[in-house]
Amino acid sequence: MQATEQTQNLQKADEKYLWHAMRGAAPTPTNLIITKAEGAWVTDIDGNTYLDGMSGLWCVNVGYGRKELARAAFEQLEEMPYFPLTQSHVPAIKLAEKLNEWLGDDYVIFFSNSGSEANETAFKIARQYHQQKGDHGRYKFISRYRAYHGNSMGALAATGQAQRKYKYEPLGQGFLHVAPPDTYRNPDDVHTLASADEIDRVMTWELSQTVAGVIMEPIITGGGILMPPDGYMAKVKEICENHGALLICDEVICGFGRTGQPFGFMNYGVKPDIITMAKGITSAYLPLSATAVRREIYEAYIGSEDYDRFRHVNTFGGNPAACALALKNLEIMENEKLIERSKELGERLLYELEDVKEHPNVGDVRGKGLLIGIELVEDKQTKEPAAIEKVNKVINACKEKCLIIGKNGDTVAGYNNILQLAPPLSITEEDFTFIVKTIKECLSQL
Ligand code: PMP
Repeated sequence: MQATEQTQNLQKADEKYLWHAMRGAAPTPTNLIITKAEGAWVTDIDGNTYLDGMSGLWCVNVGYGRKELARAAFEQLEEMPYFPLTQSHVPAIKLAEKLNEWLGDDYVIFFSNSGSEANETAFKIARQYHQQKGDHGRYKFISRYRAYHGNSMGALAATGQAQRKYKYEPLGQGFLHVAPPDTYRNPDDVHTLASADEIDRVMTWELSQTVAGVIMEPIITGGGILMPPDGYMAKVKEICENHGALLICDEVICGFGRTGQPFGFMNYGVKPDIITMAKGITSAYLPLSATAVRREIYEAYIGSEDYDRFRHVNTFGGNPAACALALKNLEIMENEKLIERSKELGERLLYELEDVKEHPNVGDVRGKGLLIGIELVEDKQTKEPAAIEKVNKVINACKEKCLIIGKNGDTVAGYNNILQLAPPLSITEEDFTFIVKTIKECLSQL
């Protein structure tokens, strides 16, 4: 389609003034300037429509165009737009109560604005918790290679993707990494849980009394939809307990129905000590994140002197409009049974994609709920990761056919070979059929 003059001007201004996320300097091609969105579909400035198979950045869980979310925020802004959570306000109280219901246990909630901040908050709470208990030497966190935990100096230190980190070091101190479980490449792990044992070993070698906690996503998402063996998370929790360390669960992507459960950890029968969440909490209509803390951890702060309270605040954290919108967002998920739908559609998607495994370049298709990874390889025997050109070819072919899909984050190990799919949980049957058909057609072009 011929771009209009107005479009061309906007594209020029975009190139000139906007520093895009994950990009170098212009001129790099601007992908899409989106002007409208409804359901799972987004429309660009030229009127082209695409099914957003990534829900933005894995976050628009209830889909686009929900007027009731806009109304909830608008009404709250009219009523009372802002007050800090050094004091309190009604939407934050109600949302904290509601999140407790979703978490199914007794947690106290600290609000922030982004996933990175929720994780930073968790690290600080965990470190100080140990000190409150008189355990002053515990500052280290163990995380996994290939995981992403955020862009700030602590959350990036926890991240296990070297390419995102090495230009910005030194980052936060005290973060160690172990290999993630990867049942495709290390199928024996299903029986041995050796990847969990590695955490046990590192804690011992580092001295338990220096370790504050472990941070993990239930399923590594941006790093390639790495499915843990069934008993892995329970074993990590047990190891943490044995060493006196806290288990922090990063639910920034896995939370709010993405994996077919309210939270990802619920697939694995484990109760984390601290749970961080963002993205799907508001379906990304407004920024909001939360750090949920087991009551016992919170209570360790009782009686702390004025100078050693939890000295941590976000000006915008728990903004009333964002909290009001989040409450409405959770109500939509409940009313429309979107968690159950994510579970059902995820199972159906894996079933429908079963035959693409026969393609010589498809090594694995895996996932839980509407969180699906397709691992491309050069050779099924050696499992050599597919060249980036092949991966991009499928992504571009999908885009040509109006389907947006993703690929996993950079790692130095050359694993850029996992296609990712995480559409809104509210996709229709037609959307579902369209996704299956398009992915199959595009893979067959390889
Ligand atoms: N944790 C995980 C698992 C994430 O995927 C992300 C963002 N993609 C973050 C933390 C950081 O969230 P934010 O970008 O909101 O800071």
